[in-house]
Amino acid sequence: MIFKQIADMISMGLLVLDEDLNVHFWNRWMALHSNITADEIVGKPLFDFFPDLNEPNFLRNCRSVFTFGNFAFFSQKLHRYLFPFRPAYSDRTPFDFMQQSCTMGPIRSSDNRVQYLFLSVSDVTEVANYEEQLVEMNRKDALTGIYNRRFFETSLQQEFKRSLRHGRALSLIMIDLDYFKRVNDLHGHQVGDDALRAFAAAVHSRLRESDLLARYGGEEFACLLPETNGPAARTLAEELRRMTEETRWVCREVELRLTISVGVAESRPEMGGFEILLKKADDALYAAKAGRNRVICYN
Ligand code: GH3
Ligand code: MG
Ligand code: MG
Repeated sequence: MIFKQIADMISMGLLVLDEDLNVHFWNRWMALHSNITADEIVGKPLFDFFPDLNEPNFLRNCRSVFTFGNFAFFSQKLHRYLFPFRPAYSDRTPFDFMQQSCTMGPIRSSDNRVQYLFLSVSDVTEVANYEEQLVEMNRKDALTGIYNRRFFETSLQQEFKRSLRHGRALSLIMIDLDYFKRVNDLHGHQVGDDALRAFAAAVHSRLRESDLLARYGGEEFACLLPETNGPAARTLAEELRRMTEETRWVCREVELRLTISVGVAESRPEMGGFEILLKKADDALYAAKAGRNRVICYN
């Protein structure tokens, strides 16, 4: 009686199964989140209501509770959830389902035999949310909202390996805004900051979903273009150069004209590592700087 009241008051899921995996106890939290009352489910097979749980890993864990009295832990990182419940604040989370950490273990009778199995369910959606946000923040540049150099280099490394393994094209575009110091000197850093934000957004809108745009340094940007060969990357770079030159950039009521210098390089099997590809694009950018408002391809 006391046990039932406590079990119904705690803010976590608690259910008890018998040896045939029929539901023996179903607390109020489980009823609230599943929309299945204890009256409906108690005495019936759990899998009638949650058929997705009827899989080898879950069954193995149940068996090991009854056979050996073992405990099992289902971490959110590995499983995300056991029970497909809606998250409490579905508008404030990227997750479609409540993220759960679950523990399973034995309940013994007076003769020490494992009579039942308990399963506790904790809602860890909020923690998982924060974690997801931190991971995302760690990848992004605070000023422009595009990816940062660290994430870019990690992705470049992975994409380079992938392109080698599968013999697929991969290109890299490095961009440096011309005479950008003047923008700050003439109009102040806030206008400069706005210009960087607007430029990043304009470039981003011209890339494909699979491309990756990053702020590589102060006024330097990099685009990683999987499945794109040198000539196609060059065409895109030229388009970006023209777009930048032709746009009237209005930042805090100041109209700016900007140009960019661009270096393009295509990955080649004989390049020993991603650093070589980066170096080639950087060399091409350096060459483009000689005239400015130019695109140079490494070949
Ligand atoms: P170049 O044509 O040779 O590239 O000339 P530049 O002035 O663009 O190049 P330089 O490397 O001399 O200066 C880069 C300038 O970019 C320096 C700095 O004022 C500006 N810059 C870098 N990061 C930021 C930023 O976060 N905000 C603002 N407002 N300006 C930045
Ligand atoms: Mg620079
Ligand atoms: Mg510059």
